[in-house]
Amino acid sequence: MEELVRLCKARGFVFPSAEIYGGFRSTYDYGPLGVLMARNVKEAWWRSMVQMRREVVGLDAAILSSPKIWEASGHLKNFTDPLVDCRSCKQRWRADQLPTTEDGKLKCLNCASTDITEARPFNLMFKTFAGPVEDDGAVAYLRPETAQGHFVNFANVLQTEHLRPPFGTAQIGKSFRNEITPGNFVFRTREFEQMELEYFVPPADSPRWFEYWCKERFEWYLRFGIPREMLRLRHHAAEELSHYSAGTADVEFDFPWGWGELEGIANRTDFDLKAHAEASGQVLEYFDQTTGERYVPHVIEPAAGVARTMMAFLIAAYTTDEVAGEARTVLRLHPRIAPYQVAVLPLSKKDTLLPLSEEVLALLQPVTMCDYDVTRAIGRRYRRQDEIGTPLCVTVDFESLEDKAVTVRDRDTTAQERVPIDRLVEVVQSRLAW
Ligand code: ATP
Repeated sequence: MEELVRLCKARGFVFPSAEIYGGFRSTYDYGPLGVLMARNVKEAWWRSMVQMRREVVGLDAAILSSPKIWEASGHLKNFTDPLVDCRSCKQRWRADQLPTTEDGKLKCLNCASTDITEARPFNLMFKTFAGPVEDDGAVAYLRPETAQGHFVNFANVLQTEHLRPPFGTAQIGKSFRNEITPGNFVFRTREFEQMELEYFVPPADSPRWFEYWCKERFEWYLRFGIPREMLRLRHHAAEELSHYSAGTADVEFDFPWGWGELEGIANRTDFDLKAHAEASGQVLEYFDQTTGERYVPHVIEPAAGVARTMMAFLIAAYTTDEVAGEARTVLRLHPRIAPYQVAVLPLSKKDTLLPLSEEVLALLQPVTMCDYDVTRAIGRRYRRQDEIGTPLCVTVDFESLEDKAVTVRDRDTTAQERVPIDRLVEVVQSRLAW
């Protein structure tokens, strides 16, 4: 884990936020490579959830939201974690994250004291004021999940898209939670990005669709290269369920500190649509014109986090091996998840090679994300690309000027293939196929 955090910083994936001021409360900034990788994670999700489906449409709702939404959804009352204080060292904790002693007492993770206060509910929503006057009428909340944006737009989407259940709305965006104990690098932060699908189904079909989405989402992580033994699907026990849920399962990843949630799949029933219909006085139901049937759909929600997914991909991909007697670090990332798919590397900085190298780069740039590196010896440049997970290196050498061909090197096998430049785009595309 320490090695990964080091690599993330050294290579520009993730920087501690406001580092020049000593950092800021478990917040992080994404650097040049992190921003590319996060975009690819989101793109891979969007492609599976929206592009490859007929019945799912996109949505992008506001972050700054009306208190009425959170009152109706139950978040103002229920979106709490149990907060406790250690009376000895004054540290604050989430009660459910503390270990217990044999006689059932909570134990402080900092000083091991069992002198812990009673748990009291702490609401995780960030409250702010919209407009210049900070009074009760101006209260707004930063959304703690993207889900409610789907529910309050249910009727809008239904009207504009003429969909019939089962159908879904998909949204990727930032959410905010005032976590009591953020930590484990980007695993738990107060500002994070979610990828959520709300899938509206006929009530009787909801158990079947819940099973479907558990399977589908589990397999998505396998498809993008996480080994099966590092993943598990954990069904929640009844006492663990959220106030809206009739069933929840988490896709969990074997992090260096133990199993942790990547994604929750919940059967939210008709809880949210009914709550918003009642609070707003609007009709939030589906009317089937052919059968004359009218009902409130049930909702299956697969909700994933961008940063946790990114971290799992990085941890699963991180390997070290030996090439020609020399140790190397390789990120064996799926080609579509890696920050760059191709690095174009002129063998030498000599002017004679640069025009052709730039031509090769210009051929590949419209196809995929390319790095271009002219510094240092070629072996060192290959190592850098291995370490940031670039699947293919394209090397332009002096022979290229004569034979109009380049060398394509594979990250995982280090095998090299000579490819005519006029076939390069085709070869790269087929190597990077989904
Ligand atoms: P946890 O139990 O870890 O607090 P949760 O069950 O409250 O998570 P959900 O409400 O199901 O999380 O949110 C869906 C997804 O959003 C999570 O699986 C996770 O990937 C991501 N997520 C939630 N909270 C955070 C956070 N504080 N930091 C980063 N990602 C988060």
